[in-house]
Amino acid sequence: MREVNVGHKYIADYQSIVPKDLMEEIRELAEPLRGKRVLHVNATAFGGGVAEILYTLVPLMTDVGLEAEWQVITAPPEFFNVTKGFHNGLQGHEFAVTQEVRELYESVLRSNAETLSHHYDFLLIHDPQPLAMRRFADVSADGDAHWVWRCHIDTSTPDQGLYDYLVPFIEQYDAAIYTMRGYAPAGLRVPIAEIAPCIDPLAPKNMALSPADAAYIVRQFGIDPDRPLLLQVSRFDPWKDPLGVVDVYRTVKASYPEVQLGLIGSMASDDPEGWEYLEKVIDYVGGDGDVFVLSNLDNVGSVEINAFQSHAAVIMQKSTREGFGLTVSEGLWKARPTIGGAVGGIPLQIQDGETGYLVHSAAECAARCIEVLDDPESAKVMALRGKEHVRRNFLTPRLLRDDLKLFNDLFEGKM
Ligand code: UDP
Repeated sequence: MREVNVGHKYIADYQSIVPKDLMEEIRELAEPLRGKRVLHVNATAFGGGVAEILYTLVPLMTDVGLEAEWQVITAPPEFFNVTKGFHNGLQGHEFAVTQEVRELYESVLRSNAETLSHHYDFLLIHDPQPLAMRRFADVSADGDAHWVWRCHIDTSTPDQGLYDYLVPFIEQYDAAIYTMRGYAPAGLRVPIAEIAPCIDPLAPKNMALSPADAAYIVRQFGIDPDRPLLLQVSRFDPWKDPLGVVDVYRTVKASYPEVQLGLIGSMASDDPEGWEYLEKVIDYVGGDGDVFVLSNLDNVGSVEINAFQSHAAVIMQKSTREGFGLTVSEGLWKARPTIGGAVGGIPLQIQDGETGYLVHSAAECAARCIEVLDDPESAKVMALRGKEHVRRNFLTPRLLRDDLKLFNDLFEGKM
């Protein structure tokens, strides 16, 4: 495994942003955990929501008195083909667990587990990629460690064969965290905590950027800052429906010919499908000069994403399946009119017609985009309500509070 250097962050910096009683709760919950060792393990230090969360959560855990670390498993590319299959299979696609799949998955995690060199009090294992590590860890040397599986995806209707294979690994854990309780398949014999993810309001991706600075940055990518921009920021993945977003754009363009579309997607190292899907998106766009398909390969980093989100006239997250969809909170936090597919964790963030719009099809999404472009003032009022909703529910100190509460419960034998 490889350690990720997360630098430093300070909980005190969040004081003026989140509710005061939340800060007090964090202090109280952290006290009995002082000096406890926490290890987070996932599959990638770059791309996707989990990495995004850990860059803030890990240093904040350290700042409140725990000794927190983050390590990424090391694995050959074939392993990530298998685990992407797991990801899709857990979300409902068919997936055959062959002998070859088992051998590859288990041998990679056995060797990663063998490199666990310290005693930890809490191990948070994120998503299916490193799930089986618990099976291969030397628990005799680590008897009082608490193992928690953190599942970020909706696994309520998995491929049954795959699920039958994975359940025994899950049930070896002391607890599992799901974004929503309903994401866990019925009958799972492990204590479940329901904790939604969060965004970091002080990270370069979300910190306040002036409209002039945002316009200056997007212009560098060829966007005309004086014409409206529709935007989706997402991995190139069929569940995120980028092709549907292109359809939305085409419908909107018939009413607003000046509209532009930005499709921004990072290429995560644990997502081999992304490259293939990127090509598919580019083909589908067919050389339309008002559509900008960009990624980290075009030097789009966190500040650039911030600029695109801060500048966009409409932010979409038109997913057909979604664990949580951090990009929705990111858009709302920037007080941009935000439209999301009515799936997964998106309805936690968007109350339809109150803080944004929930949609079920490209046609509905296009109609809502047109509504926003027709009446930007009303859309802005709605987006500001969305920002307040995010402030109360989806900023990292709340996630820190929930994790600390879970650690206390595990420590006191309450789970
Ligand atoms: N993201 C990014 N660059 C991109 C595409 C996505 O930094 O080109 C970030 C995005 O801003 C968000 C995260 O990756 O913070 C995606 O998280 P989300 O929960 O929306 O989806 P996931 O990829 O975890 O399914």
